[in-house]
Amino acid sequence: MTGDREKRMAMDEQLVLDGNAAGGLLAAAYGADVTSWRGRCVHCGTISVVATLRVYVGGPGTVLRCPVCAGVVIRIAETPTGLRLDERGMAELGPGR
Ligand SMILES: [Zn+2]
Repeated sequence: MTGDREKRMAMDEQLVLDGNAAGGLLAAAYGADVTSWRGRCVHCGTISVVATLRVYVGGPGTVLRCPVCAGVVIRIAETPTGLRLDERGMAELGPGR
């Protein structure tokens, strides 16, 4: 069962950061500094500032999750042809409001 235990530990070690940590990557994806933008989580309806999202790195791509329900709101993957942005989990993303 050593294998399972190691797998679980590896997942625990996945880095959890806040939205500011992904600021550079987000800026590259959106072409603007979006850390002060707000959006609504489509999973629970919470409106969050991007900087307060929980950022998971170390998996395939970077995943931003809602700080309330932990639902995936934004995914960014770096591919050989550029950044792929998936923000289906975040509605009405935009500056101020
Ligand atoms: Zn949520």
